[in-house]
Amino acid sequence: MNEMPMALCLVDEHGNFYFRNRRFEQLFAIPPHEVMSLARWWQQEYPDPDYRQQVIDTWTADLAYAHAHDGQIPQRDYQVTLPDGEQRTMAIGGLVFGNHFMATFEDRTEQIEHNALLREMAYVDGLTGIANRRHFDESLHIEWRRCLRSGQPISMLMIDIDHFKAYNDHYGHLLGDECLQAVATTLRDGLGRAQDFVARYGGEEFVCLLPESTAAGARKVAERLLTAMHTLARAHAASPVANSVTISIGIATETPDGHNDPEALLAYADANLYRAKQAGRNRVDAGDNAG
Ligand code: GH3
Ligand code: MG
Ligand code: MG
Repeated sequence: MNEMPMALCLVDEHGNFYFRNRRFEQLFAIPPHEVMSLARWWQQEYPDPDYRQQVIDTWTADLAYAHAHDGQIPQRDYQVTLPDGEQRTMAIGGLVFGNHFMATFEDRTEQIEHNALLREMAYVDGLTGIANRRHFDESLHIEWRRCLRSGQPISMLMIDIDHFKAYNDHYGHLLGDECLQAVATTLRDGLGRAQDFVARYGGEEFVCLLPESTAAGARKVAERLLTAMHTLARAHAASPVANSVTISIGIATETPDGHNDPEALLAYADANLYRAKQAGRNRVDAGDNAG
């Protein structure tokens, strides 16, 4: 037990830690002959009094459960504070035998951080740092259902950079990437409300979701984004439309009612983007929507 890679200790009915293996003593920096009691343990490893009480209650209930059942103390994640002040997430569980118990400690900090990172990476566009298309698709369905329940309209802006192929040809692909990053930041900062949301939809195309926004509201946001691009004033010497990088925007608004669906909203925004391009680019088009 002393050499096991998992930290473990044995505790008697008075709360004395009468056995600690090597890994345990390393991890918690407790010298081999130092007396350790459960009361001192709680104090030392859980300095925050509220959290400490929570831990004590949970552990006590789990011990009682283990006594009454097969002796297994269910493994749970706890936020343990090490002697140097570092917080670690540890899965603590163990075994009850008579009036004693064995507790085992498994450091899960890196595993949890790694999982969170993977989850985050799956939803973020690698080049621009804004949401990716998968994230957008999920948000669209969530917000659509939210508006279905509240009876509010939902708007979408489909956005495409004008003459971006010419930009790449003139400035090179690296500056093209940089331009995409600048546009992403400009769009993100140009949105007003907390629930508004911008994603990179693909290549040089972006999409904004404006939940609970009317056609008139969506048009205001779109005009503001067009202005923000003019303010950004990123040179585009090869553009026949302007001296700087511009965008075209297709707007669509629907009030979800059970007969329409989010795919139709996307198709409508896309059709209006096409109209904006046809009409000369660097503009907004809302189709037949009065807004
Ligand atoms: P339009 O005004 O009609 O939208 O013309 P456009 O040139 O922007 O449209 P087109 O679809 O012909 O070209 C899009 C260009 O965007 C071509 C492609 O090389 C470029 N592009 C797509 N993704 C990236 C990227 O990640 N980085 C860079 N640098 N360029 C990209
Ligand atoms: Mg395009
Ligand atoms: Mg384009």
